[in-house]
Amino acid sequence: MGTTLGLVAASFFLLVGFEAANRCLRWGASYRWAWYVAFALVMTLVWLYLELLRLLSYVTWWCAVRPAAGPWNLRCVGAGRVRRVRWSWECGERAGRQMLIFDADDTLWENNVIFERVIDEFLEWMTPPGGDRTAVRAVLDGIEAAHAVTLGYGSKVFLHSLGECVRRLRGRAATAAEAARIAGWAAAFDGGRVELIPGVAETLAELARRHELLLLTKGDTEEQQRKVAVSGLTGHFRAVHVVAEKNVGTYEELIRSYDLVPSSVWMIGNSPKSDILPARAAGLNAVFIPNDHTWVLEHGEVDPGDEKVLRLAAFGDLLRHF
Ligand SMILES: [Mg+2]
Repeated sequence: MGTTLGLVAASFFLLVGFEAANRCLRWGASYRWAWYVAFALVMTLVWLYLELLRLLSYVTWWCAVRPAAGPWNLRCVGAGRVRRVRWSWECGERAGRQMLIFDADDTLWENNVIFERVIDEFLEWMTPPGGDRTAVRAVLDGIEAAHAVTLGYGSKVFLHSLGECVRRLRGRAATAAEAARIAGWAAAFDGGRVELIPGVAETLAELARRHELLLLTKGDTEEQQRKVAVSGLTGHFRAVHVVAEKNVGTYEELIRSYDLVPSSVWMIGNSPKSDILPARAAGLNAVFIPNDHTWVLEHGEVDPGDEKVLRLAAFGDLLRHF
């Protein structure tokens, strides 16, 4: 209300200033009056400018607390009422754009299924006749869980875990032949292509037209970047981030670096442990798209009553919501 009155008052006095200048000219007033009138006009213009800035800051703040920007055609990326306001003018169709952050492995392309194929062969090899494959798998899962903390993720760590599993089960280090067999599985991860999940290519292309997209994936930097490059999807993303781990701190850092308003950002992925739960803890919304082949260590309980988590059966369903 105060801003509106300020704008009206500043506009009125601007008109008064112009009228005064006009009358001075018509009445042939002394030139010294020109300085007074010019000073009054400049001060009124500065006043009007400040009131306009104040009005824009209120509009921007209003958008920031309301994810759908509505008819304002303003996309707000800032937070705070006056001090930290950033805004950008968006025309027509770009109104209401949101930040969508995508996981990569088993969200955009199949990944764990490759690991599972190798594990099947490994279990077949390591389980004695009549033995319990489940027990061997439990040993491997334990080793992988420990290595995820100390060594990270990716195929190199996985192959290292297989070697460690052989050592545990055999009670000795892997022989040269056993090490060579394990090394041979590396070829399974060196492919020059990735298998995109159905609907991903066309859905991402449309979403990139409507919103801002980021890619956030964890694992070995070189390996993940190779997969991103061969996926053919890079151009849809404003940026690609490969991180060692996805936890609450990772998402908070992303919020800080992009100056995001958490309530208007969505994290989209297949992993409760890495995508949904830490993103929610950081205040983001989330879209959970389960994948039948999700790695057992990425499982977790997503609260079914959490209204900020959208569950979708297929990637293409995103177009109905964004
Ligand atoms: Mg994933």
